[in-house]
Amino acid sequence: MLVDSHCHLDFAKEEERAGIIARARGAGVRTLLTISTKLNEFPGVRAIAESDPDIWCSVGVHPHEAEVEPAAAEALIALTRHPKVVGIGETGLDFFYEHSPREQQAQVFRAHLTASRETGLPVIVHTRDADPETIAILEEEKPKAGVIHCFSTGRELAERAVALGFYISISGIATFKNAQALRDIIRDLPLERLLVETDAPYLAPVPMRGKTNEPAFMVHTAALVAQLKGVPQEELARVTTENFFRLFSKAQPPAAAA
Ligand SMILES: [Zn+2]
Ligand SMILES: [Zn+2]
Repeated sequence: MLVDSHCHLDFAKEEERAGIIARARGAGVRTLLTISTKLNEFPGVRAIAESDPDIWCSVGVHPHEAEVEPAAAEALIALTRHPKVVGIGETGLDFFYEHSPREQQAQVFRAHLTASRETGLPVIVHTRDADPETIAILEEEKPKAGVIHCFSTGRELAERAVALGFYISISGIATFKNAQALRDIIRDLPLERLLVETDAPYLAPVPMRGKTNEPAFMVHTAALVAQLKGVPQEELARVTTENFFRLFSKAQPPAAAA
């Protein structure tokens, strides 16, 4: 089995969600972590996790939303008490779009890291055009554990995050034609620190480019990562699944596989 460590099931149309989940299971993607981006939409995210034993969720405020929802650590901590909430995020810095002022992004990012330290839950980090600032904040705040999601930037960020105990999650971006530099970095990262994700509905991998991404498409990314690491696909699936449940230790493996 595979785990999609980062998708946004609440962004799909209600009537399409059951089909998306069924196709994921059909493709061997059994466990799904659906990611929160706004506190005012969190109840819908949590309801999706409650609807299925192998769907888990996070709670957090995307850096795009930091200005609209300057969440405090206490608010995040309170929402983590629910049994299906296994991580904090996504949070981080996005200086590419800069939808929220940089200072405010950093402040809300730090609130998530405080919540991670206080709850022991891992933090899900989004970073774009902000590698030096992101790693500086992580090294200073020392969250309990976490993942750089949709990793697509520099080698230094990856290496310093791994040194902090972080995991690196690989999305469909790694399959893109122009992503050779990224593939070279993935080759050198330790397999026992890798996760795979779709970030669905965004970033459909090759050969699904142009379609709306969904967790079932993760098999293409997983196949590419297996090839880069020089391991059989079953081995890649087994190790990344173990990695996921080691990091997100509040989530439980599927009953049949436990
Ligand atoms: Zn993201
Ligand atoms: Zn995301």
